[in-house]
Amino acid sequence: MADSSSRDGKRYASSDITDYVHRVHAAHDAGLARAFATPSDMPAIQLGQSEGRLLHLLVKLVGGKRLVEVGTLAGYSAIQLASALPAGGHLWTIEFEPKHAAVATANLAAAGLADRVTVEVGAGVDVLPRLEAHGPFDVMFIDADKESYDRYGRWALSHVRKGGLVIGDNAYFFGRLLEDSAGARAMRAFHEAIAAACDSVCVPTPDGLVIGIVK
Ligand code: MG
Repeated sequence: MADSSSRDGKRYASSDITDYVHRVHAAHDAGLARAFATPSDMPAIQLGQSEGRLLHLLVKLVGGKRLVEVGTLAGYSAIQLASALPAGGHLWTIEFEPKHAAVATANLAAAGLADRVTVEVGAGVDVLPRLEAHGPFDVMFIDADKESYDRYGRWALSHVRKGGLVIGDNAYFFGRLLEDSAGARAMRAFHEAIAAACDSVCVPTPDGLVIGIVK
């Protein structure tokens, strides 16, 4: 069935409407606002406000207690994830760039979440094996180097429990998903592995957000 909201090619969400729904459904507290305001020396590539809120709701929906994230950046998505945890829950989040990890650590502390989040510095493919003892996990959120998405996806499918969630941002690969390149092939392998092992969808956010429930 065609998507009736976009079949005529129009965008119905003006920036005024987007501002309104952010304010009503996804308002930032001080901690989220601090992390969302990207420092000038960091790339402005964090999740959108409603996407961050969606992560928060998804953790609550599955009763997530043990979460893993690849790609911390300034910690905005980590705050959305960790603030949905019940007492005793924990998020392990992995950031490749030490300067970004330091910013995220400060932002998580300012949000009052330092005790329930561990920021791991390193490449996801190197750090993930060290986290295996903390699993199985309820939710894994992938938002890191796109060339490794197939590896992150395979790890997720081995370490996220049945009924848990695997979520991947930038699933359109910045509009290059169907290209003949290593990155695009890795992203397509991620899509196809998640679709094979999960009940899944790719939500049409600006750059696509894959959500899979592990079968
Ligand atoms: Mg992203």
